[in-house]
Amino acid sequence: MHIQFCGAAGEVTGSCHYVEAGGLKLLLDCGLFQGGDDRHQKNCEPFPFDVAALDYVLLSHAHIDHAGRLPLLHKLGYNGPILGTKPSVELAEVLLLDSAHLQEEDAKWKKKRLQKKGEEAEWVKPLYTIEEAEACLDQLQGVDYEETVRLKDGVSVRYLDAGHILGSSILELTVKENGAEKRLVFSGDLGVRGAPILRDPTLVERADFLLMESTYGDRLHENADNKCELLRLAVKDTIKRGGKLLMPAFAVGRTQEILYELNSLFEDNAVPRVPVFVDSPMAISATKILLQHPEVYDAETNALIAGGEKPFQFPEVRMVQSVDESKELHHLRKPCIIIAGSGMCTGGRIKHHLHNNIDNPVNTILFVGYQGVGTLGRSIREGAQSVRIFGQQHAVRAEVRHIDGFSAHADRDGLIEWFAGIRDKPQETCFVHGDPEAAAALSATIAEKFKVATRVPARLDTVEVA
Ligand SMILES: [Zn+2]
Repeated sequence: MHIQFCGAAGEVTGSCHYVEAGGLKLLLDCGLFQGGDDRHQKNCEPFPFDVAALDYVLLSHAHIDHAGRLPLLHKLGYNGPILGTKPSVELAEVLLLDSAHLQEEDAKWKKKRLQKKGEEAEWVKPLYTIEEAEACLDQLQGVDYEETVRLKDGVSVRYLDAGHILGSSILELTVKENGAEKRLVFSGDLGVRGAPILRDPTLVERADFLLMESTYGDRLHENADNKCELLRLAVKDTIKRGGKLLMPAFAVGRTQEILYELNSLFEDNAVPRVPVFVDSPMAISATKILLQHPEVYDAETNALIAGGEKPFQFPEVRMVQSVDESKELHHLRKPCIIIAGSGMCTGGRIKHHLHNNIDNPVNTILFVGYQGVGTLGRSIREGAQSVRIFGQQHAVRAEVRHIDGFSAHADRDGLIEWFAGIRDKPQETCFVHGDPEAAAALSATIAEKFKVATRVPARLDTVEVA
């Protein structure tokens, strides 16, 4: 078995690993590099393997840093199957089309900027177009969790629940080579044990070789235990002032988790019932897909639904599809909760809500997700006195709060616990999908604790599994 790390090696994004095993050429994920000044260059670089010769692409989940370069594969001549769980396939359709739209917008903007300076701009092209993304969607094929999918004689794969986002999976590849059976496990992104809605990450029985994520390999989640109480206080205090609670949130995962927790607060009469606006077409699509897949819910969510509750579409929830409806919210003078994207306030409808509400002290801006360096969200979170939105300077008079406990990723202890749960430990573990410090810290901790071989590969490193 031969493996090459083609992305998310020594960094968090661009997940992509090339595997030759049992006579097949496989790709685990094909994600976009995001963040960092060299991201565009890395996304444009040729793949270090023959794209047209691939037999299968196996997708761990639909997040863009795992799926976002799939249209490029198609463009470069790969026409074979892309296998993911059924919910992953549905989510990937939504996310890839959105990504293509952003690529087109990005190229348009770049072109305009060059033309303004009187420079040649015809060479600027989007990484891929909406049309190209649509073409690759036909290659997506849905499989069931735990189903053994035969790729060829002696090579099979199973998708086990990773509990990270809807449809997320751990890939378990079983290969018979030279009379011996080898098992390669790719953790994908691992979720948080005990988090609502989805099941906990599956514990793997056996791995001979393991590729494991390390996003939070050196950190614990802050205020994970009292996140619901912090949410309750933010809602209660804002309603008391008669204000709006604005929550920038990612469309997939976080929005649905916040809805779930708000439903609990209302059901427990912990806060007054006020309208909750989900003002994001992508979040609405993601919520619809979640509603269509009750088979992935955990026992707690199933029990709520059996008891008559609707944790994602309770009576206070209003799905705001059109731009006109979204604009109407600016004139609303009653307390309410608005959940809108983008999660870091870099675009989307949240920017309009901030534009209209950030200078009024009755309102609250509540961050429930990570805010990247250089983003509008980060400036507000870090206490900027004033910020520029749509070319206009605004004083930040709204109250700013944050809750770090909501995360779709296992933290350091969660990752160690998942590794401890592997009954037959791997001969070697490679830590991917983490910043260098996080990956190195987790690699050292696990090597010492379990007396196993570990390493942190660099991009384009290769490894032979005997
Ligand atoms: Zn992910």
